[in-house]
Amino acid sequence: KYESLPYERVAEVRKKNLSALYLAYYKKPLLLHQGHMQWLFDHEGRRYLDLFGGIVTVSVGHCHPKVTDAAKKQLDRLWHTTNIYYHSPLYEYAEKLTSRLPGKLKALYLTNSGSEANDLALHMARLHTGHYDIISLRSGYHGASPYTLGVTSLSAYKPDVPLGFGCHTTMCPDVFRGIWGGSHCRDSPVQTTRTCSCSPGSCEAKDRYIEQLKDTLETSSASRIAAFMAEPIMGVGGAVQYPKGFLKEAYELVRERGGLCIADEVQTGFGRTGSHYWGFQGHEVMPDIVTMAKGIEIAASLTRSLHFNTFGGNPVACAIGSAVLDVIEEDGLQDNCKTVGTYLLLKLSKLRDKFEIVGDVRGKGLMIGMEMVTDKKTRRPLPAQELNVIWEHCRHLGVLCGKGGLYNNTFRIKPPMCLTKEDADFAVSVLEAAINKYLDTAAR
Ligand code: PMP
Repeated sequence: KYESLPYERVAEVRKKNLSALYLAYYKKPLLLHQGHMQWLFDHEGRRYLDLFGGIVTVSVGHCHPKVTDAAKKQLDRLWHTTNIYYHSPLYEYAEKLTSRLPGKLKALYLTNSGSEANDLALHMARLHTGHYDIISLRSGYHGASPYTLGVTSLSAYKPDVPLGFGCHTTMCPDVFRGIWGGSHCRDSPVQTTRTCSCSPGSCEAKDRYIEQLKDTLETSSASRIAAFMAEPIMGVGGAVQYPKGFLKEAYELVRERGGLCIADEVQTGFGRTGSHYWGFQGHEVMPDIVTMAKGIEIAASLTRSLHFNTFGGNPVACAIGSAVLDVIEEDGLQDNCKTVGTYLLLKLSKLRDKFEIVGDVRGKGLMIGMEMVTDKKTRRPLPAQELNVIWEHCRHLGVLCGKGGLYNNTFRIKPPMCLTKEDADFAVSVLEAAINKYLDTAAR
């Protein structure tokens, strides 16, 4: 039996010995004891359906037995640094992972985190192109290191000190909250009652957002750029999907100016969007760097000086990585994301049709956003503290959700990839009950 610290002790240690930088969700934060697939269990044995475990990206399920087994075996065999000797797990993993990447994306370098990968990608783009400026999308999140905070463009994460020199942002092509758009513009299975001004084969919203990007490109240093970094679907920014064709045209414009295109797949990769293994494939584009794998000639520019990373690609991490890639295939998780994700999106869109405060339901596969508003006509964001009331109700009813977006008014649904249709039914019934409870109290 596992004896965890009692809740009160945890709270005490947190107050006394932990940095205030540690976030904790919920008024009374959860003390987790155990995880199993799509479920989490707290210290009192209460079970929660985890709709947010997917922020650890390749969540094949908590404590998936095959992954845990691979880790245990490797821990018994060898754990050490990567960079100065050969060890088999790195080479097995490199072969497996790059075989899942298309085109020239065959050179792998392993870091310890998304921020670190993005830091390095930006650094390499500058070394390779000899250019300086970097462009990213407003409302995007690419990491919290001082370098990546230059491309992260969500005010909540940005301290007011100089960050990421040479980084510029362009308007986020958000067809719901932005000034141009309509739900037909995006690639999503959700049926919509709203229309947009696009005619077949052309998308005015896309054209306008592209004009904004051109403007940003033209005003960067000497009209040249080192890189354009974007997520295929925004994660922390609230599951924002761009109008069809936006990323493709953006890549063309960037390349015309000598820049590289970086796809940040920290949230969208590994089959989560259902239709494709990588999010960028849904946009019919080919990035130069994916923040996990890098184009080979670009990787070479890093060798001009020594580059070292003590734990990136260590044997234990690589053994786990390999097992995760196997499980995605063996358990059919990409297909599951597509089937269950589409099912869930369609069910959530019924909540959007039913409730005035559910402004938008969007996403692809098991990467979903539900944006809350005060009313459908003005689309004013539901204040974050109001969303929190619904979110706390969900927790007490046994469902854990994420939240995000520029105004923190979007529920982020990114469960472990093994979610079932029954879980989706349960999740939607809980969200519905939580919204009803909130509306009942607000009406009183
Ligand atoms: N890029 C994206 C798209 C992310 O969502 C995140 C983390 N949420 C990061 C980069 C940074 O990853 P890490 O927290 O591992 O540094």
